[in-house]
Amino acid sequence: MARTDAMVLGAGVVGTSVALHLARRGMSVALIDRTGVGEQTSYGNAGIIEGNTIFPPAFPSDIGSLVRILFKQATEANYHLSFLPQVMPWLLAFRAASQPKRLIETARLIRPLFSRAVVEHETLMLESGATHYLRKTGWLKVYRGENSFAALAPEFELATKFGLPLQSLDTAKAQLLEPSLNPVFAHAVFWPEAASVSNPLGVTRAYAARFTALGGVILSGDARSLHRTGNRWRVETAEGALDSAECVVALGPWSADLLATLGLNFPLAVKRGYHRHFRAQGNAGLARPVLDAEVGYLVTPMEQGIRITTGAEFAARDAPPSPAQFERLMPRARELFPLGEQADGRTWLGSRPCFPDSRPVIGRALGHSGLWLAFGHAHWGLTLGPATGRLIAELMAGGTPFCDPAPYRAERFS
Ligand SMILES: Cc1cc2nc3c(=O)[nH]c(=O)nc-3n(C[C@H](O)[C@H](O)[C@H](O)COP(=O)(O)OP(=O)(O)OC[C@H]3O[C@@H](n4cnc5c(N)ncnc54)[C@H](O)[C@@H]3O)c2cc1C
Repeated sequence: MARTDAMVLGAGVVGTSVALHLARRGMSVALIDRTGVGEQTSYGNAGIIEGNTIFPPAFPSDIGSLVRILFKQATEANYHLSFLPQVMPWLLAFRAASQPKRLIETARLIRPLFSRAVVEHETLMLESGATHYLRKTGWLKVYRGENSFAALAPEFELATKFGLPLQSLDTAKAQLLEPSLNPVFAHAVFWPEAASVSNPLGVTRAYAARFTALGGVILSGDARSLHRTGNRWRVETAEGALDSAECVVALGPWSADLLATLGLNFPLAVKRGYHRHFRAQGNAGLARPVLDAEVGYLVTPMEQGIRITTGAEFAARDAPPSPAQFERLMPRARELFPLGEQADGRTWLGSRPCFPDSRPVIGRALGHSGLWLAFGHAHWGLTLGPATGRLIAELMAGGTPFCDPAPYRAERFS
């Protein structure tokens, strides 16, 4: 039986960042996963480090969008009818958290953590030799209609208050930034301080390599074997039992399953999302991710090709894939950007782990000595992985953390 100071369960970008931050502080740490590092949700995202996020995605407030979603005509969202009764309490809580006042409150609460997103990645990338993945080229959101653009006024107002730069562009100016975009949109907003990566898996693997270089160990094991033995946590791994005084649960969309076995229940749902890779026609290309805002998908340049990622699908995490949104949005995507053939014939499915208030849980699990939680990062797991790792490490060390951890406490659900 082996012993470490801490074990981190889950080697997505969040768990790997936590493990690296703990190892940097001199702790002996084991990182445990049942698959390879970064191969699940953290593999297929759009690669945006969205440090300038202001409002989280909200429950639709207009009847037109709801009707389109209900009749499965929407490009931005989909659902499985059989899943609705199960997810209904979550949807109602999400709708309540989407009221304008609550959104403003959320924007204020999350700002200190999000404001560190890019710089915390840069710190880890520098020491992990991963800066070649980083693009500090911002991101561009395009708006086809006047109404959707006009609705941005509250976001612009808060951006000014928070000191976040943005540039409101007409079609021609946006095409100066991205010459391959076709003029099917009327407005664009450029967020220069957002960053992105060309290979999210490469980034997580680089952080894992740095973690092992610092003496950390990566073990194959099933987190569901976690149990208390004396005053330590024990998990079974391919190398045998491992005991640690501290255990961090960073299992992304699988976190709530494990915690329920310990009597800790969380309102965690998933917003499933898909990606496909395409070649670009001719010399077309992109320098940054582009959001087609009303249609509700992202087009992002990746090492594997042009990655298109979809919006939210409300379905059971483990239900078979149903990429209907792709069929609906592809004609619109081809209007915007000259996409060629699909690059690898694959449709990837991932599950964003989401709380109804759009904030992750980061901190101690009350009533369970030495148990820590770092999950529920929704649309921002890549964005917040390193900032979360630092916050957890500082909380575990008992000092003053770099930002107020109160908005992320698990107790808000008790
Ligand atoms: C389509 C799409 C686009 C997105 N775009 C962005 C974006 O542009 N920017 C951004 O910041 N975020 C984005 N996200 C969200 C982001 O990908 C997630 O928030 C993030 O990957 C969650 O990371 P994680 O480490 O918490 O979870 P995961 O990456 O899922 O890691 C959890 C790990 O736990 C392991 N595990 C689970 N159960 C067990 C078990 N029983 N035993 C052992 N191991 C176990 C899994 O194998 C996995 O490796 C997107 C998500 C999707 C789906």
